[in-house]
Amino acid sequence: MRALVFDGELRLTDIPTPVLQQGQALLKMRRGGICNTDLELTRGYMGFSGVLGHEFVAEVVEGPSEWLGQRVVGEINIADGDCDMCRLGVPSQCRHRATVGINGHQGAFAEYMALTTRNLYAVPDEVSDDQAVFVEPLAAALQILEAVHVSPRDRVVVIGAGKLGLLSAQVLRLTGAEVQVVVRSDHALPLLNKWRLPALRADDLPVNQADVVVDCTGNAAGFAAALDLVKPRGTLVLKSTYADLPQANLTRVVVDEVRVIGSRCGPFAAALSLLRQGLIDTQAMIAMRYPFEQALSAFDRAFQPGTLKVLLDF
Ligand SMILES: [Zn+2]
Repeated sequence: MRALVFDGELRLTDIPTPVLQQGQALLKMRRGGICNTDLELTRGYMGFSGVLGHEFVAEVVEGPSEWLGQRVVGEINIADGDCDMCRLGVPSQCRHRATVGINGHQGAFAEYMALTTRNLYAVPDEVSDDQAVFVEPLAAALQILEAVHVSPRDRVVVIGAGKLGLLSAQVLRLTGAEVQVVVRSDHALPLLNKWRLPALRADDLPVNQADVVVDCTGNAAGFAAALDLVKPRGTLVLKSTYADLPQANLTRVVVDEVRVIGSRCGPFAAALSLLRQGLIDTQAMIAMRYPFEQALSAFDRAFQPGTLKVLLDF
């Protein structure tokens, strides 16, 4: 089968179709989405080698009869179900987990992928492939609400108007809170205007005013800016991994008693539900689509600054 492999260089190649193990289903890919994490992996993040990709919609073509023919999305953390974190009901923090297309498990940018049926979610007919391919990042955005109580009286600021930042802003405004998005360039302004989400200019930020600040930049400057924005006793949510080690005034965290919360993967069922209800605009976030055979061009496009979601059609 054709697969997009990274092993020091990114290339489309032929590899054996996966052989199913106990409890797995064979998924035939329909659509994939390129995430910033995929771009980071091709720069050496996690020392990953193998098939990339963790945002996908697929059809089950082999496996347990109850799944056959179903259109599905899949949780990316493969847990052992047995460690202390799994027993606490937190499989996404399993001590021995593998992660689809990121660590220890083949990714989705191939014609076929084997995945445990425990991780599958059926996609309702009303949710299109173009919407369903956003379930994984949308679930990650929803995870903010698992960790922070956002009151409808709160002032919330999202830093980073990229893919995850824009999904996070759309999720956060469902709480009724006032949500603003910090932009560094103009590319996101038409979308924010369309959604009637106010944009804040990076050089004109209200210092120490926000109840909740969500940093989706993944860079040290974003982290420092987020710390400047949050008010005393406010909450700072870190949503992106950092390529570097951010330096910031952590004394402010102590003196102003700022809560700092890390946040990663989230609830797939809730993400599917929001999409089915039409509460999240994903269509406007699609920058470009490419046939899978042109995946290398798709990655080139995704690397261009300010590019929103690039999709792969299988
Ligand atoms: Zn575990």
